[in-house]
Amino acid sequence: METKIGILSLPTELILDISQYLNYPSIVALRLSCRHLNITIAQPAKYTMADLLEIEQWPAYHHVKYRDGGTKQPYAEVDYFACYICLKIKQAINFSNAMMRGKKGKLSDVLAPDRHGRFCIPCGISTGSYIRGSSFYYGGYGVRQGMVCVDCGLFKDKPWNANANVRRCEECLARYQARLTMPRFNPRFFGRAAGSWRTWR
Ligand SMILES: [Zn+2]
Ligand SMILES: [Zn+2]
Repeated sequence: METKIGILSLPTELILDISQYLNYPSIVALRLSCRHLNITIAQPAKYTMADLLEIEQWPAYHHVKYRDGGTKQPYAEVDYFACYICLKIKQAINFSNAMMRGKKGKLSDVLAPDRHGRFCIPCGISTGSYIRGSSFYYGGYGVRQGMVCVDCGLFKDKPWNANANVRRCEECLARYQARLTMPRFNPRFFGRAAGSWRTWR
């Protein structure tokens, strides 16, 4: 009878020794392959965007590459992308369409340097790359236009029928319009010295 020899036949020290030579994605993959290796090999503490760019190519995160036919656009919930700021792999719904196509996308053949600069919407807002009032399409396949509300600073869906000038979310727009109908709260008076709205012509 022939004896099967695989990695699990090796002494633990040797397995640990081998794992020293693997990069982060390979260690993660190895740990995921079986319970024994998961326990034996420690999760490496540090990883980089380059590691995430490798992992985002795995079939589990790269639906668009492996599905049959259909659009080449990512799907909001089954395609995943890495963000270099929070260093996480997140669903496509968290990224602007511009961050997921062309050189920043995952389908270009070469690993373009642009991919290293991809960031998610929350990170874009917190770092000031997406300023209040800006709007863009996001989430991949389908039409989703979102914007960073000028008033509350939150990322909200832009109403589909909103004109290009709309820079407030629905709630803030309603509040803003209510204020406009009350002269004493007209925003044109704000920003002046306290109390001066009474005398302002
Ligand atoms: Zn992020
Ligand atoms: Zn708002």
